Amino acid sequence: MRNICVAIWGFGAMGSTMAKTLLKKQGVEVIGVCDMHPDRVGKKISQVLGVPLNGNPDVTISDNIDQVVLPGKCDICIIATDSFVKHMYEKAIQVMEKGVNVVTIAEEMAYPLAQEPELAKKLDEVAKKNGVSILGTGINPGLVMDLLAILLSACMTDVESVRCERVNSLSPFGPTVMQEQGIGMSVEAFQKGIADGSIAGHVGFAESVMMISDALGLGVDKFAQQMAPIVTNVDRKAPHGFAKAGEVAGVRMTGQGTKEGKVLVDMIHPQQIEPEMEGTQTGDYILLKGTPEVNMSIKPEISGGLGTVAMCVNCIPHVINAEPGLRTMIDIPVPHAIMGDFRNYVNPAKRVVKE
Ligand code: NAD
Repeated sequence: MRNICVAIWGFGAMGSTMAKTLLKKQGVEVIGVCDMHPDRVGKKISQVLGVPLNGNPDVTISDNIDQVVLPGKCDICIIATDSFVKHMYEKAIQVMEKGVNVVTIAEEMAYPLAQEPELAKKLDEVAKKNGVSILGTGINPGLVMDLLAILLSACMTDVESVRCERVNSLSPFGPTVMQEQGIGMSVEAFQKGIADGSIAGHVGFAESVMMISDALGLGVDKFAQQMAPIVTNVDRKAPHGFAKAGEVAGVRMTGQGTKEGKVLVDMIHPQQIEPEMEGTQTGDYILLKGTPEVNMSIKPEISGGLGTVAMCVNCIPHVINAEPGLRTMIDIPVPHAIMGDFRNYVNPAKRVVKE
């Protein structure tokens, strides 16, 4: 049976690391890459990645998705270009209309019903019409502040409230994330960015909160979030971001899902580049109040960069196998690492590539 054929749209920090990961896996190959960055267009993936291709074809990066994703030649396309549903929506439609499945790390796609119900409905319709499925995943949203809490609640008879805290490093992420978090800005420019909407902070709280509420049936009726700058006292340098002392090195995000004024889902998420430089230890914490109480602590944090890459790569078989339509992390089978041949995890009848 032919290897599972994967295209990647967006070859930045995440997309390129996904390629490196896939090159080391069995039964799967990268058949095409689309990126519009002038440093990448026209180059072979071997030049950009600088790692052995292990027999994978050395494809040329194109800025035209129509040359990369061809009907019948690709089982799934990873989209790693954007955070917001409205920005990636047309891309997803374009791929699905070629009869190809989509998995994306766009944060809002983890639960698009939360803020974009109309676009979610259209994505679902187009997916069904073309017999494919589409899933949003990632480390957060996608696992640490939603799915993990949902999974842990399975051993409880009664849940009163959910508290998720993630203290993490932004250093593994690319320029898109640095820009969305305002890394290297003055506090004044950051505040202005929040006011005019150009600083997004962490994207995904609304999605995580609604995913938890819908899964557990908590009935959250209101969501609110707040963000404050984390100002560094020392110069901090990450691969794609730099903040001088006195500038913004991250964002402290908080969010609450409430029902009739009572907080049922509480989110706390300070994220910054190089947190250890000022003594911040990373970690993930979930407290589920109820019967019996569950108190999870993971130190240091689950890696945000590799975690995102792995979540996306490991969900590939689930997306290909899924019933056509818009899927979420709460309606696919339990995701897990894949150490064997990818083809063993895919139903051959669901393959797009038939030969
Ligand atoms: P990045 O800036 O390093 O890479 C984005 C890439 O997409 C760039 O190479 C850019 O040239 C390319 N691109 C953008 N629009 C394009 C278009 N129309 N056509 C072709 N190429 C295009 O960003 P990254 O760190 O790789 O992250 C990618 C996205 O994933 C970001 O929006 C980020 O917020 C999101 N993300 C989500 C999670 C999660 O947990 N869900 C985790 C990490 C990143």
